[in-house]
Amino acid sequence: MQAIKQLQRYAFRAPDQRVDNLVVGAGVIGLAVGARLREMRPDETTVVVERHGKIGQETSSRNSEVIHAGIYYPLDSLKMRYCVRGRELMYERCERLSIPHRKTQKMIVATTKSQIMYLDRLHSDLQEPILNDPSYSPSGEGVPTYFILPNECKDMEPDLGSNVLCAMLSTESGIVDSHAVMDSLQAEIQEERGEGSGSVALGTKVVRIDPDKEGWVVQTITGASSQPDAILTRNLVLSAGLSCVNLLNPLLPRHEQLTAHYTKGSYLSYKGPGVGSVSRLLYPCPEPGLEGLGTHLTLDLAGNVKFGPDVEPIARIDPVDKPGMDEDQDQDWWERHLRPSEGRKDEMARAIQDYLPGINPDNLQPDYAGIRPNLSPPGSGFTDFHINFDPDSRPGLMALCGFNSPGLTSSLAVAQDVEASLPRN
Ligand SMILES: Cc1cc2nc3c(=O)[nH]c(=O)nc-3n(C[C@H](O)[C@H](O)[C@H](O)COP(=O)(O)OP(=O)(O)OC[C@H]3O[C@@H](n4cnc5c(N)ncnc54)[C@H](O)[C@@H]3O)c2cc1C
Repeated sequence: MQAIKQLQRYAFRAPDQRVDNLVVGAGVIGLAVGARLREMRPDETTVVVERHGKIGQETSSRNSEVIHAGIYYPLDSLKMRYCVRGRELMYERCERLSIPHRKTQKMIVATTKSQIMYLDRLHSDLQEPILNDPSYSPSGEGVPTYFILPNECKDMEPDLGSNVLCAMLSTESGIVDSHAVMDSLQAEIQEERGEGSGSVALGTKVVRIDPDKEGWVVQTITGASSQPDAILTRNLVLSAGLSCVNLLNPLLPRHEQLTAHYTKGSYLSYKGPGVGSVSRLLYPCPEPGLEGLGTHLTLDLAGNVKFGPDVEPIARIDPVDKPGMDEDQDQDWWERHLRPSEGRKDEMARAIQDYLPGINPDNLQPDYAGIRPNLSPPGSGFTDFHINFDPDSRPGLMALCGFNSPGLTSSLAVAQDVEASLPRN
């Protein structure tokens, strides 16, 4: 096995610190894993390292903040299992810790006969008893959905167009303050408990990883220091979001290496006519063959309306002044793509007017954008989360790649499984 290739300008250093668990990345996934390790292994040392000066600066703060019910995914997928269980855990956590959230419900609307058939299929798939199994749904409630007739649609959401033929109602969908979730997880990591300790090391970037007979030697650079620290960890969890593939690939044989297909999603904010009565999240039926859930309406906790995200593949583009720069030297490449794209505004407006005819397209304003860490190009159909874990050839190493939506909803359930799989002292 080799060290991280693109980071080899840092020579190997013998470790001068030792921890039990090291988690790379303080997005919602890494923080959830860190908090779960602290809860279940209070006598171990757990450190979460994050290259930015604050937690949750990348994808975890650039999403729709929707608690998904678990509607669209194949029954046997990780996404389905983690979304349903994660959603229940998320609501329970929000109630217990008074984290701002609201079970808004969600309506998926059909405006054509083929969309009615699509909703019918979706609804019947969600009646599968397996979804009530505790490994999916600890409450045993599965994914409750209801069919809504046209006149009921208008009663429930008066702004919907009269061309809406029927809708599927998801009573368990909602919204959450993702920053408050992450703050609560960080606090739990740092809480004093047991003989061990927990910390979140901010401004600390992983620059080299080497296998060791006792685990993994991870080198980090903190702040402006040019001298790396070397830490020996028994368990190493890579939850580095957009950078996860870059950290993992050099540790894998070539045939197992992954390719990132970064895909941007832009949001448009909206104030104006045609949405005054909206109280639920409103989604069209997804367009066959296209990634994403269609140009949908989401609400934030202050009641503001936004539409999106769209689907726009992006390539990592080298900065003009620094061609050939690799990601290690150019950790802010993703920030250059964060200006929301307006190119598809007219197309998005038409898609919205199909179910909300009263909106004024002129009032749609670019809001923000996020980048999905996808592992396949748009149009390739369903792609699951990828958890890379091979205890025989890479003991103690786990990488959480391709965590696009519903990663926020799934985070607490993913953390349970990660902790349960990692070796103990
Ligand atoms: C447009 C969009 C909309 C979405 N909407 C929803 C939604 O409504 N509901 C939902 O459930 N999910 C949604 N998601 C998915 C969800 O946002 C993600 O699955 C989740 O935020 C991923 O969290 P993460 O911790 O894996 O990644 P991130 O939040 O990206 O965190 C990774 C962290 O690793 C750090 N890092 C990287 N490399 C290093 C290094 N070398 N050293 C140290 N630190 C490093 C980064 O700085 C970063 O902070 C959406 C995603 C997108 C893009």
